[in-house]
Amino acid sequence: MTTTEVAVDRPLQDLDWDNLTFSVTPTRSMWLMECDKELVWNKGQLEPFRNLQMSPAAGVLNYGQGAFEGMKAYHTEKNRIVLFRPEKNARRLVDSATRLCMPLIPEEKFIEGVEAVVRDNVDFVPPCGRGSLYIRPILWGSGPVLGVKSAPWFSFLIYASPVGLYFKGGLRCLNLKVSHDFHRAAPHGTGNAKAIGNYAASLYPLMQAKEEGYDEVIYLKAANEELVEEVGAANIFAVKGNKMITPRLDGSILPGVTRDSVLIIAGKLMGMETEERDVTLEEVLDADEVFCTGTAAVVMPIGMITDKENTKVYCEEQIGPVARKLYDMLTGIQKEKVEDRFDWLRPVLEI
Ligand SMILES: *Cc1c(COP(=O)(O)O)cnc(C)c1O
Repeated sequence: MTTTEVAVDRPLQDLDWDNLTFSVTPTRSMWLMECDKELVWNKGQLEPFRNLQMSPAAGVLNYGQGAFEGMKAYHTEKNRIVLFRPEKNARRLVDSATRLCMPLIPEEKFIEGVEAVVRDNVDFVPPCGRGSLYIRPILWGSGPVLGVKSAPWFSFLIYASPVGLYFKGGLRCLNLKVSHDFHRAAPHGTGNAKAIGNYAASLYPLMQAKEEGYDEVIYLKAANEELVEEVGAANIFAVKGNKMITPRLDGSILPGVTRDSVLIIAGKLMGMETEERDVTLEEVLDADEVFCTGTAAVVMPIGMITDKENTKVYCEEQIGPVARKLYDMLTGIQKEKVEDRFDWLRPVLEI
């Protein structure tokens, strides 16, 4: 299905691989595609990584018309560079674009751009087990608008940055606060799209939580505050006995690729009973184990949750067995240490 090729002989960049954080390290090149006023895309190309120029009236600057994706390329134990389920990101960007009234990027164009960026920046992919190349596709309204309407033309960019392991020295338990003052998304809003505006609105609650000593915020559903929604920009799971539950995709939940993968691994490989349904805060506080998922950190165990005056402790040093197993299985598949039973890896290069 895919063509793998032998990478050009390009020595690894001279970076401090063991001290990479989750921050931007510019790479050689980025992929840029632009459309015209008829909303027809050009064929796209690699360009040197550089700053962009834009009209002060660009739709994205004035009205936030933009969406993004987040994915990673991994250097595996078999010395291949692979992507993980990139077609899921391509389809999600189509859904986000539809919701935000932007022209769609065909799935094969999305993957072509991602692969081009990975190939051209292969010397920035961290060595196996020391991190990954984070890939950030963005689609936005670049043409000028003054009245509130859709931008006349759009840009699609993919850049990449080497990033380290999210938790250095192994998994760490998060300390969370339940937010009763803010919601992340509204019913029938844009919660299920990776719309750039959703994230600006999450900064203030996060800053407040951090000032109070918490790592992140648990959001409740705007439509029913007895139900949980997400943890910052990650999906939430609760485990009780052999059952693992997560909020259903009801329109305000972001359909995470990690969320979907964890549901499949738990159900098909770990023999757990999994349910996607409404999840109450009470159930979460009564669970044996709670964790959250996302591409950046994979699986993050939750150690403590504070709801108003009450604090529930799940784990301190010892991470829950389900979160640990899911983390090991998923990262194992991503580095080709565990068999890729579901055909999730897409090889880009052999090195
Ligand atoms: C991106 C994101 C996630 C995680 O999605 P993955 O595809 O697993 O990285 C979860 N929640 C929100 C709000 C997000 O933006």
